[in-house]
Amino acid sequence: MTLAATIEIRGWCPGALRPMASGDGLIARVKPWCSALTLDQASGLADIAGRLGNGHMDITRRANLQIRGLRELRLTELHRALGRLDLLDPDAETEAARNVMVGPLAGAEGRALASALTGALTADRRLAGRLPAKFGWLVDAAGPLSIVGERADAALCLLPAGVALRVDGQWRGIARRDEAVSVALAMVQAHLEGREFPAPARMDIVPTPGRRRLGAVAAEAFGVAAPFGRLEASQLHGLVALAAKAGASALRLSPWRAVYVDAVIEGAGELGLIEDDEHPLLRVDACPGKPACSSASVDTRRDAQRLLAMGFDGSVHISGCAKGCARSAAADVVLVGNNGRYGVIRNGTTRDLPQRTIDPDDLLAALHG
Ligand code: SF4
Repeated sequence: MTLAATIEIRGWCPGALRPMASGDGLIARVKPWCSALTLDQASGLADIAGRLGNGHMDITRRANLQIRGLRELRLTELHRALGRLDLLDPDAETEAARNVMVGPLAGAEGRALASALTGALTADRRLAGRLPAKFGWLVDAAGPLSIVGERADAALCLLPAGVALRVDGQWRGIARRDEAVSVALAMVQAHLEGREFPAPARMDIVPTPGRRRLGAVAAEAFGVAAPFGRLEASQLHGLVALAAKAGASALRLSPWRAVYVDAVIEGAGELGLIEDDEHPLLRVDACPGKPACSSASVDTRRDAQRLLAMGFDGSVHISGCAKGCARSAAADVVLVGNNGRYGVIRNGTTRDLPQRTIDPDDLLAALHG
């Protein structure tokens, strides 16, 4: 398939090997191994984003990093640069199958489990071919920053008694650590084929999900969020410099559009990054909108800032269209762009019917009635 043909396809996620066209050029999604980047890799990605893209990157809800504003003519250069950073898969199928998200505070055992799962997924082409497109996995342990509550088609959670397995939203039991990957793969396969699968050992306690926390969350972990998940190349360069100064070795991405450094850093706020859990911007989700996304007719992020300036203190989702890329959970106020105007939904999602329509110059009306 030619590149021109692949970039027209929808229904899959853009990879580095299958970029997707958007309003500001091509988007290439880079998948860090086990959701972590060495400082050299992070610095290299910032270079690439500034040199080959438009300098904008997005932290995705699957803990990946998207480089925006790329041009088709320079994709070979992009692939060479990613290859030098050990961030390029051998082919697009392997890249698509390697869809494993790992908790930002996962320890060595959790990362080894995630590596084993990733290895199994990429080694067996027949298995990868049987999984639905976008099939997502997550691996973590329990704990206050655990991501086990996040969306994933299948989850593996390290517990003292073994590895708890969740498929299609249901915890199914606990497997032995040395068998967890093969049991999880067999369970997923059986589930997709509608077959019964002998349940592993019963679990008495369901893993408790954690939540995003920022700042110094542990002796060797510091979390920062990027406003709307948008990370500029200059910010990533700055973050790497702060991390190196603090003696860190890695940046770990999370589904909360936040990055965790494995050392306590100082000065991230001066880079325009958010260190405070109560920061008002964290209540607002807004997709890139116009002009970055060709499906948008409204400037979502400008309007999100305007809405916040009006003093609204609830949760807000501003979406350029009904697809709702930035958030799937309900919000107090949801604005959905359509033909240059917004449909307003209270206490719902972009999938609900708008109760009224407003002009972007009349955002105050969205907060009343
Ligand atoms: S929600 Fe619509 S406008 Fe916003 S990024 Fe997704 S496709 Fe584009």
